[in-house]
Amino acid sequence: MKRIGILGGMSPESTALYYEHITRTYTARFGDYGYPEILIYSVSFQHYVEWQRNGQWKEAAEEMASALERLRLAGADFGLIATNTMHYVFDQVQQAVGMPLLSIVDATVEAILAAGLRTVGLLGTTFTMRERFFLDGLERAGICALVPDVCDQVRVHDVIFQELCRGEVRPESQQFYMDIVDQLRGRGAEGIILGCTEIPLLLKPEQCDVPLFNTALLHADKALRLALQPEH
Ligand code: GLU
Repeated sequence: MKRIGILGGMSPESTALYYEHITRTYTARFGDYGYPEILIYSVSFQHYVEWQRNGQWKEAAEEMASALERLRLAGADFGLIATNTMHYVFDQVQQAVGMPLLSIVDATVEAILAAGLRTVGLLGTTFTMRERFFLDGLERAGICALVPDVCDQVRVHDVIFQELCRGEVRPESQQFYMDIVDQLRGRGAEGIILGCTEIPLLLKPEQCDVPLFNTALLHADKALRLALQPEH
């Protein structure tokens, strides 16, 4: 079995989802506690929040690469960056780290293609909805992505940072997100990407009558599959 390295803390709410999902999914599938070993490196998130705000992506990439190198030296066989937004610099980080990293964008694209969908809504931070790193991954796979209008993007983003990353779930924000899901459906979305690893705290599959692509769980699932894959 391979050892999984998780770069977490962005935010702690979602890092916990990864850990819980990998261990519980293993036990549900195999009936015992033989899940893969997991190393978690939880960063001090405030630096990253400021780097994002100031467009200092190079600093963020360097710091993530050095944290992932520490995970590798501690024994991780491959790594995950447990946030969508920081995939903005995924390629730069991968080049600087001596172990494979699993991309959350690839894991999501694979799930959408497997579900046979062609048009999806994308919710996440403003970086994820506006910059190209997630949208390009979808487009390359022939998937058309719809995002909320600019004002709604700002509110979606603010709910993430001011509430969800602190573990707060407010009914009015839940209603706002459900309204946005309805709008995206009205524009032709056949499914919705929860393109921020905290959104699953707010939007649950049972509340929406459209498939939700939970990027954190898809990423964690892919890590579990890889960890269990026999070496060739
Ligand atoms: N976890 C969030 C995401 O998936 C946002 C936090 C961050 O900026 O990394 O994008």
